[in-house]
Amino acid sequence: MSYTEQHCHSCGMPLSAPDARGASDKYCAYCTDSEGNLKSWDEAVSGLAQYLDSWQKVGNEEARKRAIRYLTSMPAWADRA
Ligand SMILES: [Zn+2]
Repeated sequence: MSYTEQHCHSCGMPLSAPDARGASDKYCAYCTDSEGNLKSWDEAVSGLAQYLDSWQKVGNEEARKRAIRYLTSMPAWADRA
């Protein structure tokens, strides 16, 4: 990981990734609406939980726990920890 590279403040995805760059220069396209506004906490948690469960197969409840733990380590959601 390059330290000069910009990452999404919500999910940590590199903003140089294909399709990651949206209307915001702080957040990726997946974490924002078409105007660059950050999605809600609930949307961020369920979106990431779905993604985690799709490749880790840990079940919805565990996936949500992991999603919350991961997201609260991000600058955008630090106040949720
Ligand atoms: Zn993101």
